[in-house]
Amino acid sequence: MLRQKDLAPMTLQRLRIAKGEKMRMKLYPNLYLSNVQEITIGMLIKNKIKALILDVDNTLIDRSKNLSEEIVEWSRQLQGQGIKMYILSNTNQAKKVKAIAEKLEVPYKIFAKKPLKGEFLKIQQTLKMKPENIAVVGDQIFTDVLGGNRCHMFTILVDPIDEKDYWYTIWKRPIENRIKKKIVKGEINVF
Ligand SMILES: [Mg+2]
Repeated sequence: MLRQKDLAPMTLQRLRIAKGEKMRMKLYPNLYLSNVQEITIGMLIKNKIKALILDVDNTLIDRSKNLSEEIVEWSRQLQGQGIKMYILSNTNQAKKVKAIAEKLEVPYKIFAKKPLKGEFLKIQQTLKMKPENIAVVGDQIFTDVLGGNRCHMFTILVDPIDEKDYWYTIWKRPIENRIKKKIVKGEINVF
């Protein structure tokens, strides 16, 4: 017969596994694409997405701060079809983000501290939408995807525009690539 003192460690272990699993789930995006231009109006309607919270570095611009004409056109088209957009960046480079936001005609917020939930939730309040109707788009699992998932928003991971990376993101890439490989192989059932 099992006594309570035997049960306790087992329960604890099970709880620990459950917690680890929950954490892993928060790292998986609902959708994984090559770039933002692959996000189509049909895809958004199908998933009931009415707004996009966009990352900047390596999602909209490359390392040299270039914003491609294709992305400007993509944003113009989606906004024209009623999709709301918001830029949310962890950077403190106000000038850089302001220039991008003005070009895309989108409100922005810097120093967001993603994956903390605060700024995501503020945008949600501004948009007056349910979290599941908002998609978070970005190239980083540990800021964009994790932050969006924590807020129960739809998450879209895109490949970074530049191969070369910033020193403060490069250490995370092997883990991100492992998750991406699993998604591509179909081991993770994303959306
Ligand atoms: Mg980024």
